[in-house]
Amino acid sequence: MKGWKELLASLLAITAIAMALPHARAAAPAAKAQAPGWYRMTLGDFEVTALSDGTVPLHVKKLLTNTTPVRVDALLKRAFLADPVETSVNAYLVNTGAKLVLIDTGAGNLFGPTLGTLVTNLRAAGYQPEQVDEIYVTHMHPDHVGGLVAGDKPAFPNATVRADRRDAEFWLAQATLDAAPESDKGFVRGAMAAVNPYVDAGRFKPFDGAGELVPGIRAVPTYGHTKGHTMYVVESKGERLAVLGDLMHVAAVQFPEPAVTIQFDTDPKMAAIQRKRVYADSAVRRQWLAVAHLPFPGIGHIRADGRGYVYVPANYSIPR
Ligand SMILES: [Zn+2]
Repeated sequence: MKGWKELLASLLAITAIAMALPHARAAAPAAKAQAPGWYRMTLGDFEVTALSDGTVPLHVKKLLTNTTPVRVDALLKRAFLADPVETSVNAYLVNTGAKLVLIDTGAGNLFGPTLGTLVTNLRAAGYQPEQVDEIYVTHMHPDHVGGLVAGDKPAFPNATVRADRRDAEFWLAQATLDAAPESDKGFVRGAMAAVNPYVDAGRFKPFDGAGELVPGIRAVPTYGHTKGHTMYVVESKGERLAVLGDLMHVAAVQFPEPAVTIQFDTDPKMAAIQRKRVYADSAVRRQWLAVAHLPFPGIGHIRADGRGYVYVPANYSIPR
């Protein structure tokens, strides 16, 4: 039988070998990155793919209006959140079978390093930017149009861009840039830089109010957040999804209290009226919603609850 000294020596030797083996005992370093940001669902004969452009911290206590910081804090706490709120920027790709349509494009390089991943996620989802036929813009704020370009070139070389003419006439006008306060000029320059390459190529076609753009997708005016803010209703075989753009920004606050507005609203009163109208209609119809700033993928339903609404995210599922 070995003595205790020999036993101890062999234990120490085993420990030394184990410590020398790579990753044998050490904790793995945190990987940090998130899974590729795309989520797919079927809508009748159509395929809808939510694409993440990333997330960005939003100082909602400063930004929300028609409420108080104390009230915002209370509602955030109820949702297990705190200011600033990490906020998703989502866009939606609709394959109708005849056309590939992208609704909004994320921020590109206009909104900092945590956004601008839309094209990466589009490729990860199995598509190429060259395949996109049409791009429908809800409004021309930088986090919705920035992704139209890569540098100063169209990021979607074969796509036609469509938006309500009210937004185009405002955001693309030199007079708007001249009249804007210094703090807002960046928004106007961003819109121009993103959309003008398509204008120059003859591939920007504004529309005037409501109407079908391709079979199964139509524009519905929801003016208020911007002069030409538009939602898009996608419908196939009786199934219906409304892509809301910026009809709302902060789920924890604006579902329970739809009257709360945000500094980004061009006309806050109108923006609130449109939000309440679309919420009420969506709850009654039980239609799908896809929303730019809801937590990714931002697809779900709402139901009425007292004076407000409760959001029910889509049940995670793999389309067949
Ligand atoms: Zn936005």
